Amino acid sequence: MNQVISNISSVDFDKIRKDFPVLDQKLNGHPLVYLDNAASSQMPKQVADRLDHYHRYEHSNVHRGIHTLSQKATNAFEEARIKVKELINAADSDEIVYTSGTTDSINLVANSYGLINFKKGDEIILSEMEHHANIVPWQMIAQKTGAVIKVIPVTDQGELDLDAYKGLLSAKTKMVAVVHVSNALGTVNPVKKIGELAHESGAMMLIDAAQSVPHKKIDVQDLDADFITFSAHKMCGPTGFGILYGKMNLLEAMPPYRGGGDMIDKVSFEETTYNRVPFRFEAGTPPIAAAIGLSSAIDYLNDIGMSAIEERENQLVEYMMDRLMEIQGLRLIGDAKERASLASFVVGDIHASDVGTILDKQGIAIRTGHHCAQPILKRFKVPATARASLSFYNTKDDIDRFMDGIKTVKSFFQ
Ligand SMILES: *Cc1c(COP(=O)(O)O)cnc(C)c1O
Repeated sequence: MNQVISNISSVDFDKIRKDFPVLDQKLNGHPLVYLDNAASSQMPKQVADRLDHYHRYEHSNVHRGIHTLSQKATNAFEEARIKVKELINAADSDEIVYTSGTTDSINLVANSYGLINFKKGDEIILSEMEHHANIVPWQMIAQKTGAVIKVIPVTDQGELDLDAYKGLLSAKTKMVAVVHVSNALGTVNPVKKIGELAHESGAMMLIDAAQSVPHKKIDVQDLDADFITFSAHKMCGPTGFGILYGKMNLLEAMPPYRGGGDMIDKVSFEETTYNRVPFRFEAGTPPIAAAIGLSSAIDYLNDIGMSAIEERENQLVEYMMDRLMEIQGLRLIGDAKERASLASFVVGDIHASDVGTILDKQGIAIRTGHHCAQPILKRFKVPATARASLSFYNTKDDIDRFMDGIKTVKSFFQ
């Protein structure tokens, strides 16, 4: 296991911030404060340089060419799979399937695993705080197979109601798919426990780890989930690329989801046989540069150390929560005991989009809206929230600017 032990005190985060040229600019006349990391994180220059080098000097198609350039590209592309395997401590790099992101990964599981394993009356358990990416693919496959969706309710604090969850589990449950860290509330869910209970009922467990893999050390063998999904662009890598981790015995029993080149063994008009896992799920020319970009992003994160990143973000979010509490009339949406480095909130009866717009005029980028999680906003009876989400390259100064910004928002409406 490639566990990097690092101590936060040995990491120079001021220096690290300088790796992100995008942060060093003025927007609307003010230095940028970027607090929309849960939507997409920024890319350090090391990763941008790696992508540039690939495009300039190394590009070729993979898995096909006998020529040296193609072999070099293939090696770099496959090295990324090993990097991901080590990052999440998978048992085998063949358990790492390249996809176009979390959304694509979940669609793959629903359409491949779900299509052959769900039948009429089977149940899929989701939670009320899921991202649309972990709702809609299941609804679509439920419609095709006759399976039924059950929903774990969320408490007023923004935590999953585990007793209600236990009540939903039965022999009919085939799949439990739950987010690790909610992008809308910041809640960290006890996914290991949820998975244990799912397994006791004979169900499979999928974890949407889009908001957890970028921020802390994840060990898929310890979590023991059957499927885990995440996206490169939320962990300092490129857009349009992500990972499906699946247990080998499950992946091996799953049919392909898309047909085409690279995913086959032999093709004839009478019969086509498929390539082995993971290539069976990777039809067509893959996003080669994106895989290499993710590989470089993982190197970058490992150089800092996932534990130092987690500690740094915990310190920042603690400071941000303290400061947010100073704002009169501010209502947190989701106040779970286990919180990740983001906060969702409303200010009095000021509409979230006004909060976002007035902050933007001061160079402060936050997210406003439903965060692709409409059911949970409905649960809290708000049409939209403002969300500030942190990364390790943010600073206390960013948070202070953000607070001054909110005070300005309030003064507009007084
Ligand atoms: C961002 C996000 C997704 C979707 O990721 P894509 O990269 O857009 O596919 C799914 N779930 C959660 C919790 C997210 O934060």
